[in-house]
Amino acid sequence: MQNGSHASLDAEASNINCAFCQPGDFAANILKETDAFLVVADHAPLVEGHILIIAKRHYACYGAVPAELDEELARLKQEVRDFFNRYYAPAIFWEHGVFRQTVFHAHLHCFPFGETTYDITTPQYTIVVHSQDDVRAWYTAHGHYFYLEDTVKSLLFAPEIDLYMQVIKDVLWHGVSSRSQQTQWRSQQQRYQEGAPIIAATRDKWLANQRQGAIYADETSAR
Ligand SMILES: [Zn+2]
Ligand SMILES: [Zn+2]
Repeated sequence: MQNGSHASLDAEASNINCAFCQPGDFAANILKETDAFLVVADHAPLVEGHILIIAKRHYACYGAVPAELDEELARLKQEVRDFFNRYYAPAIFWEHGVFRQTVFHAHLHCFPFGETTYDITTPQYTIVVHSQDDVRAWYTAHGHYFYLEDTVKSLLFAPEIDLYMQVIKDVLWHGVSSRSQQTQWRSQQQRYQEGAPIIAATRDKWLANQRQGAIYADETSAR
């Protein structure tokens, strides 16, 4: 596989040709910033609530993100889970792991799709992931992958196109079609053109949720 060819990119702080290394270009979509990550409304959303957790440094994928950042990432994922639970449906996390990526920079897709219909008993998944260490170990040993996490399990798949299309169909398309009026998969370009009101709705709810959290914090600290 292609591990090693992008090893030199892993350590870069930023890359001039990379869209996610220019946060000024998507500043309006940024929902939250921490030391190492940005939480961003996707600029070409599949559905309302489609969020990305993007590493600030230019790592090729989460398999290349160092263990020191695991806790910070876990906290952000939990924040997204709580947000989705309040406004939408339970979270699904999805990563291209370089395979079929459009921006070669670590970003985790977060979708409010609730339960998936993906069946873990089918032999197609590659490994069950228990921690980010498993993702790093795979990436170091084998290179590219793709990753799916639903409410009960996390799976890492070998980069095989048939497998990939199957997961896109059974999980992502299933989620899109059951949670919106969409009857066919829209192109990135079309989603981008139609994205503004969807992004605005996501942002409004995110901000409302933050306010709610602040009020709750006030109330509990006043006691
Ligand atoms: Zn980058
Ligand atoms: Zn992506």
